[in-house]
Amino acid sequence: MKCIYCNSEAELTSSDIITYAITGAKLTKSFVCKTHNAFTNDNYEKKFVADLDFFRNHLGLTTRDGKPIQYKADISVDGTELHNVKISNRESLYAPKEVVAGFDDSGNKILMAPMEKLEKISKGKASAVDISDVTLHKTITADSFLGFHAVHSIAKMAYEWYCYVNNIEEFKAEYKDIVDYILGNNDGDFVDIIIDGNYYHAIDQLSEIGTNAFFQYDDVDGYRYVVFDFWKTIAYRVRICKLPHGATIDTKAFIFELYLYHIDESKSKTVFGAYSLDSKRKTAFVTIKPKNVTIDLWRNFVKRIEKIMSTMVLSVHTLKREVDELSSKLKKYDAGIIDVARLLGFEENNVVTTIEIISQLHLNKDKYDVTKSFNQNLPIILNLDSDTIARTQEDKMEFIKSLVAMDKENKLSEYIWNGIHVFNEIYENEMKLTK
Ligand SMILES: [Zn+2]
Repeated sequence: MKCIYCNSEAELTSSDIITYAITGAKLTKSFVCKTHNAFTNDNYEKKFVADLDFFRNHLGLTTRDGKPIQYKADISVDGTELHNVKISNRESLYAPKEVVAGFDDSGNKILMAPMEKLEKISKGKASAVDISDVTLHKTITADSFLGFHAVHSIAKMAYEWYCYVNNIEEFKAEYKDIVDYILGNNDGDFVDIIIDGNYYHAIDQLSEIGTNAFFQYDDVDGYRYVVFDFWKTIAYRVRICKLPHGATIDTKAFIFELYLYHIDESKSKTVFGAYSLDSKRKTAFVTIKPKNVTIDLWRNFVKRIEKIMSTMVLSVHTLKREVDELSSKLKKYDAGIIDVARLLGFEENNVVTTIEIISQLHLNKDKYDVTKSFNQNLPIILNLDSDTIARTQEDKMEFIKSLVAMDKENKLSEYIWNGIHVFNEIYENEMKLTK
C-alpha cells in the first residue's frame, strides 16, 4: 500500500475517508501518509466542520468522547439580541450552570446567568431579564457549504472514497489533476453543484436527513465523476479523471450504485437510474459552479438544510440513547430534584419527540409485530411515510401543553414510564432479531 497522494510507503496513517465529524458511519483506510493526512485536515476539514457545528448538534452527532457538540448561535431574550452565544443544548441556555456569554448589537459583551451568580461577578450592575421567551436563531451562510474549505473538503472525501471502493492503493498519473487540486497546486473547476430537480426527487426517496450518499459514474463529456450527496442537503459532483480509452457510455440510461452512510452508524447500498428522454447526448445531471449559485438557488438549498432542525432521525439506536437519558431525568423528576421544564429539556426537540414516540408505542403496542423490525413497525404505529419524524411548531406546542397539564395532575411520570417500558421491551426484541 502507498499514499494515494504521493506514493510514499512511509508513515501511512488511517484516514477518515468521510470526515469523522460529519458521519455516524465510520469509513477508514490506511492509504494516506501522515503529511497528507495532516494537510487536508489542517487546511480544509477543520474549518469546514467548525462551520457546521450547529447542524452537527441537531443531527445528534457528538464529539469523539460522546459529548454534545457546542455551537454558536444568536438568541433574542426579553427584547435584547445576543450574537455568537456558545450553546450545547437548550438546557445550557435556560438553566445555565456556567455563565452564558454573547455580544449585543453594539458589540458589548453581555453575560447571562442565575442572578445570585451574576451579582457576584458584576458587583450590583446586573439587571434581571425574563428568560421565558428566549428564541434561538442561526443564519445559514452559503460559504459554509459552497466556500473554499467546503468544496476542497468535499473533493478530498470524493477522491478517497473513489480509491476506497475501487481498491486503488497508490497514486496514479490519471489522478494527477484532482490530486493537485486537493493539494492546492491548481484551482480548476473540479467540484460542481447538482441543481437538477429530477436528481433531488430521486435522492429524496432513497436517502435520509444526515445520511452521506456516494456514487460514481462515467459521463458523455468524457469524464468520470463521484457524486457526494451531503446529509441529503446538497449534492456535489466531483471530477475524478478522464475516462479510460475505449470506455463506452450508454447515453440513454444511467444506472448508479448508491452507497449510503447513515447517522446511526449503519451502512446500506441501493441502485437507482436516470433515463434521458431525448436522444441528444446530454450529461447525466444539470450542474452549476459553486460560485455561480444564485440567491434563488441558494434559497432552495436553505429549505433542504433547515429540515435538519425540525427532523429527528429515527432508528432504534438513536431512540435508545434518548430514552436512556430520559429515564435518568425521570428518576430525578420523581425524586423532586428537577421540575417539569428540566424534564422536558426546556422543550428540546429530541426530548419532546422521544416522549411522543414512546407514548405512541405504548398506546399502539397491540399493533406491534414482534417478528418484524422496529423500522418496519414504525410507519404503522406512527402513521409515517418515512423514517424521519417532522412536526410543525404548533403540533409540538400542543403536545407540550398536554404534558404540562399532566404534570399538574401528577400523571406525567406514569405516562412517560409506560412509554419507556414498552420501548425497552421493543429494544430487547430488536436485539434478538438482529442477532
Ligand atoms: Zn502522501
